[in-house]
Amino acid sequence: MLVIGLTGGIGSGKSTVADALAARGAGVIDTDVIARELTEPGQPALAEIAATFGTALIGPNGRLDRDALRTQVFSDPDARARLEGILHPRIKDRMLERLAALDAPYAVLVIPLLFETNQHTLVDRVLVVDIAETAQRERVRRRSGLTHSEIDRIVASQISRADRLARADDILDNSGDLPALLAQAERVHRIYIALAGDLNDHEAG
Ligand code: ADP
Repeated sequence: MLVIGLTGGIGSGKSTVADALAARGAGVIDTDVIARELTEPGQPALAEIAATFGTALIGPNGRLDRDALRTQVFSDPDARARLEGILHPRIKDRMLERLAALDAPYAVLVIPLLFETNQHTLVDRVLVVDIAETAQRERVRRRSGLTHSEIDRIVASQISRADRLARADDILDNSGDLPALLAQAERVHRIYIALAGDLNDHEAG
């Protein structure tokens, strides 16, 4: 199966593009969604997070306080590495499990840290959603309760915009409005359907 890696900085528009491709029939697997599933009450990863970072991170309802955890790890690189050590292998296992079970013309893996975690090696083609930093900050701020300095730190912890663009196979420019983004998503969808068809012809022959 043709496997696309969809990436981009925080707030670039990955989820929006993933939803648009899913609506057209792509098999979308979102690692952020998997990360949330893995940290639901009762999950082993959540128990490990509590054991590592303290039970104060778990609210009375058994739910993870994501904001508190984020604050804790973003000010401490070692803590962040420990958290990634708990989550990343589990996310990857579940993602590959779902990929193997997927029935769709092509697959889209939504991986915010695609390059940072070397997972570009798992995909046939990299799709980057690109946005200028000013608009990025503005959209993240509108959507989340993050402060300026938290946003700065998250952006700084990700690969630079220039490096990401240099490593992309396909780029969607999300500096315009939503219809403009969706039109570009439609364009790459057609390309992927065609590529997936070529791949199947090749495998059949
Ligand atoms: P990501 O998944 O990369 O973090 P999202 O797809 O969630 O990004 O987009 C971030 C926010 O910006 C969301 O609230 C989304 O609705 C909004 N958004 C995305 N693209 C546009 C656009 N072209 N114009 C205005 N708002 C947008």
